[in-house]
Amino acid sequence: MISAVKGMNDLFGKRAMRWGRMEEDIRRIVENANFTEFRTPILEEIALFKRGVGETTDVVQKEMYDFLDKKGRHVAMRPEGTASVVRAFIEHGIAMNEPMPFKLYYIGPFFRYERPQKGRYRQFHQLGIEIFGDETPQMDAEMIFTACRVLEHFKIDYEVHINSIGCKECRPAYREKLVEYFSSKKEHLCEDCQKRIDTNPLRLLDCKTCNPKAKYHDIPVMTDNLCGSCDTHFKQLKNALEIFHVNGIIDPFIVRGLDYYTRTAFEIVANTGGSQNAVAGGGRYDNLVSDIGGPDTPATGFAMGLERLFDLISEDFYTEPLISAGYALCDEAVDDLVHFAKHMSHHPVRFFADYKPKKFKKALQKADKAGAEFMFIIGEDEAKDKKILMKNLNTGEQKLFGQHEVILIVNELLNYESGKFSATKV
Ligand SMILES: [Zn+2]
Ligand SMILES: [Zn+2]
Repeated sequence: MISAVKGMNDLFGKRAMRWGRMEEDIRRIVENANFTEFRTPILEEIALFKRGVGETTDVVQKEMYDFLDKKGRHVAMRPEGTASVVRAFIEHGIAMNEPMPFKLYYIGPFFRYERPQKGRYRQFHQLGIEIFGDETPQMDAEMIFTACRVLEHFKIDYEVHINSIGCKECRPAYREKLVEYFSSKKEHLCEDCQKRIDTNPLRLLDCKTCNPKAKYHDIPVMTDNLCGSCDTHFKQLKNALEIFHVNGIIDPFIVRGLDYYTRTAFEIVANTGGSQNAVAGGGRYDNLVSDIGGPDTPATGFAMGLERLFDLISEDFYTEPLISAGYALCDEAVDDLVHFAKHMSHHPVRFFADYKPKKFKKALQKADKAGAEFMFIIGEDEAKDKKILMKNLNTGEQKLFGQHEVILIVNELLNYESGKFSATKV
């Protein structure tokens, strides 16, 4: 038997329906905020991710889903969205051809070759938004607010943690302070962090292995070491977040850890019965576009894990649709049922026909198994009189309609459905 590739999931039935609805809702929310969809390919040259995600990151060093194609090109399945979008932004000259700020979103699958565990898969899904060509803290605030809007729609309890990680002017001096601080504590750090002191000391701040922030309480923080313009930017960010009614908790241990990240960094954690789970994160990356070879373009954005989000949405957030089924009880009724199914297909109701004639009792069993709440029957008498019998399987109530009275039937179903939904919502 052939089974799915490790860490890759199938999605079907009710879960697929809920997932699809979740994506529809997300698209509506971000499109209302004037973000337009941006689609990039799954495969990119691996060089893009080395430059765009960072050669020293775990993603690039350990988790890339990469291979040589038939011509020996080294390609990788995208492990995240920003690098591809920046590549496309440069390639299509968007900075010259489109009005700035350029606001986009992406939603789709990403791939990381890491050990699969609960909630972590080799194929996973993300929503991302990016805004190019605007350096204002107000735009950062709008970006963070958009992530909050999504979580609020799904009635998720969350906290927003914000930080500033400075710029090319002020970060090098801060970096030195960190190196100096940790060099006397080297033996208490994990193996990765001992290397990070030289390559990427900011990453020590959010290491989950040796967790220095829990051990030491006098670690120098970036927010105390910002230059004048970064300090102003951070103050204005906090002010704009207040206007958006976003409660940004200052958390100096949120770092992005790569040189092209600048100023704003944030993370959103969901509160789930005592534990906290990061569900979205992002920030400003004013130097990435130019680092990859494009025009100097400030940018800001976030990514949100959709598997995480999906698990946080409560079971009763989406009500199940009303399903109805149609059956023919004899050969003479089949054409009438085909005709009825054709007309029902034009209406926003979930109706399916079972064309194989069967006894009433068998039809009832099948309708029940399919979760139908209404059943339509055309038997010998109904076929003769061009009638159709509608049966409410919850109450047992029956009504006879003309086969052409589809509008009446649909209204009847929609009324029942809205009544049912408003009853469950209370
Ligand atoms: Zn600065
Ligand atoms: Zn560590």
